[in-house]
Amino acid sequence: MLIVMNKNATQATIDAVVAAIEKRGYIARPIEGGERVSIGILHNKGSVDASHFSALPGVKEVIPVTRPYKLVSREVQPFNTIIQVGDIRIGQGTLTMMAGPCAVESETQVMTIAEQVKKAGAVIFRGGAFKPRTSPYSFQGLGEAGLKILAKVRENFGLPVITEVMDDESFSLVEAYADIIQIGTRNMQNFSLLRRAGRSAKPVMLKRGMAATIDEWLMAAEYILEEGNTQVILCERGVRTFVNHSRNTLDISAIPVVRRESHLPILVDPSHAAGIRDQVLPLSLAAVAAGAHGLIVEVHHKPEDAMSDGAQSLYPSQFQYLCRKVEAMARFLSENGEPPAGGVQ
Ligand code: PEP
Ligand code: MN
Repeated sequence: MLIVMNKNATQATIDAVVAAIEKRGYIARPIEGGERVSIGILHNKGSVDASHFSALPGVKEVIPVTRPYKLVSREVQPFNTIIQVGDIRIGQGTLTMMAGPCAVESETQVMTIAEQVKKAGAVIFRGGAFKPRTSPYSFQGLGEAGLKILAKVRENFGLPVITEVMDDESFSLVEAYADIIQIGTRNMQNFSLLRRAGRSAKPVMLKRGMAATIDEWLMAAEYILEEGNTQVILCERGVRTFVNHSRNTLDISAIPVVRRESHLPILVDPSHAAGIRDQVLPLSLAAVAAGAHGLIVEVHHKPEDAMSDGAQSLYPSQFQYLCRKVEAMARFLSENGEPPAGGVQ
């Protein structure tokens, strides 16, 4: 249930509504809107009787929340969440391009790629220091040494960095270095990790589980918001299907559904969806056309030598071409009255 306050509701009336909610054993969560405050009721088992609250001073209306997820839902927050990272605003109406290698392999590798992706139009640099690998014998990432290299990218190129956290144990370390913390597909329902991310002051990008429904994905995001962190970006990265012509199947239809259901920004990762370099451009164009707020793309200057995901990594020149194409797509859409995300930031 959501209690919407009048535009001119005083703090005292808001506090009184919060107290009335808590008196009944529920949790109250005030949500600042553009013009007014709304107060979400959480932790209710079964339905809540609206008449307890509708007559309180300052209350405009009481709206039932019909979805299982609450804080991530548009019913609770009708306006889009915008995530500010430095001077970049994710979800505002400009496409946010994130790019970089799958894994941080060395300082030279990362610096070379960072220079090229920045020139092409990327505004956030990606690179994994802790890698979730199918085989324990595969390269696991450089760990803290990799995070230190990412910090140098931020220093040298002024690019904020996004990197994956794999477990509770390394969370504080990753959090100290990252501008955006990534939770990968394999950890989408790692509930203790989600809770820890919810206590972070850093934005979190939550990738969709490879076999997760949209409801499950949004409920996972709800764990993060429920702990207090409202800066969550969703990322569609393809789901497992029966096909073998691509690594995963990019679920384009997830984009409009998520945009309808949630106020959180949604990015698309065409690289892990495709698994093959040739599919990355068409999937990127489709994602932008369908309303993605941005893309996260794997780029490597020597993909044939990459320690992970070389086959899906674009050459820098291909990424440059991709940026031009998606920018043209975004411009076409906005010029034709369909502004899903606007031009490249
Ligand atoms: C990655 O971004 O490198 C990654 C491992 O992605 P995912 O969790 O989507 O597989
Ligand atoms: Mn990868």
